[in-house]
Amino acid sequence: MNYDHILIRYGELSLKGKNRTHFEKVLRDNIKQVLKPFPMLKIERTFGRMIIELHGEQVEPIVDRLQHVFGIQSFSLAVKVENTLEAIQEGALRALHDRGSVSTFKVTARRPFKNFPVDSQKLNHLVGGYLLKNTSNITVDVHHPEVEVKVEVRETATYITCGAIEGPGGLPVGTGGKVALMLSGGIDSPVAAYLAMKRGVKLHAVHFHSPPFTNERAKQKVKDLTKILTKYGGTIHLHLVPFTDLQKAIHEKVPSNYAMTIMRRMMLRITEQIANEQNALAIATGESLGQVASQTLHSMNTINEVTTLPVIRPLVTMDKLEVISIAQKIGTYETSILPFEDCCTIFLPPQSKTRPKREQAQKFEANFDYQSYITEAVANTEMIKVTAQPQQENKEIEELF
Ligand code: ATP
Ligand code: MG
Repeated sequence: MNYDHILIRYGELSLKGKNRTHFEKVLRDNIKQVLKPFPMLKIERTFGRMIIELHGEQVEPIVDRLQHVFGIQSFSLAVKVENTLEAIQEGALRALHDRGSVSTFKVTARRPFKNFPVDSQKLNHLVGGYLLKNTSNITVDVHHPEVEVKVEVRETATYITCGAIEGPGGLPVGTGGKVALMLSGGIDSPVAAYLAMKRGVKLHAVHFHSPPFTNERAKQKVKDLTKILTKYGGTIHLHLVPFTDLQKAIHEKVPSNYAMTIMRRMMLRITEQIANEQNALAIATGESLGQVASQTLHSMNTINEVTTLPVIRPLVTMDKLEVISIAQKIGTYETSILPFEDCCTIFLPPQSKTRPKREQAQKFEANFDYQSYITEAVANTEMIKVTAQPQQENKEIEELF
């Protein structure tokens, strides 16, 4: 391979001044994080781009990782040469060779470094002519070229690229504050997590489990989902909340048609408490309007009453099929559909009220001292730090907690 650099573009024109510096710093840290397994790489920030020097590292796994880093608009493999016409011509030929068989091309030269003696127009001709002379079965097409050979003459060096790879867009995770995301083992909440991270928030995942009614494998499933999500946002703290006692109490004290509503209210109260402890400014869920009884507008209204934190629902307008297609794309679907008991499905009656009322919920909650159950559940919550690094390393870290 002839490419020796990767040039990263991150757009976001609206970002100015201090915000931009912060954005760039976080993005660079996130890129460094995912590229940790490649110690030879050097990452540099220049002229509103980021440049990675490959130092002979394999490019495919790096490309794969960069495609998951939010905030990256696009990136290109690049050849870096010194600022002489000969070096540029020869570098352009090497870059084009790496594209394999190509039938049409055009050269687009830019010269931000005005002291370079050849202007862009002339450079287009001189580089284009050189490429034609040194290749066969290839012609110039200025309107619809198969490959655009971009030459960018900077003060310190010239970068040559032949095409760009799309990044995931969005904002760098960590630029938008923290959110406590309610993560079940289902299809929806991992997708909600992905979309929340896309807008730059750092996640604390909160999962409710009810041992012994839910087993180790269900817990492992949630850890695995969290692990997959770290590909997009780096380290995620997973809070595992023991929910058995509270669920039993609800089962005993609350009429069965309100059990689900009250259970959700309890989950939200606990999540709010964890959010406050972690300085998270909002709660996120995988709810979608009207999908099931607990997600009608009436239900949301009654459940949402218990928290003053904003509740973000990235999937609120989506159909199930749209959610599934994202789940497949981001790689959570196969794990989500594994058939393990969720804490929500045990104890609960098959029929729940689709129009629960706030007053009724408050009345049933007055039947028992739920606050002490909440305090107990929060106190016994286990926190696991899940990192983007390979499984083995992660285990060691987990053991520290
Ligand atoms: P999902 O596919 O995310 O499980 P769902 O379609 O099964 O969603 P519900 O079971 O009604 O819908 O859950 C709605 C939302 O409540 C979930 O998206 C998730 O954010 C939260 N939630 C449900 N169960 C749990 C749980 N055991 N732990 C944490 N959050 C949960
Ligand atoms: Mg579910």
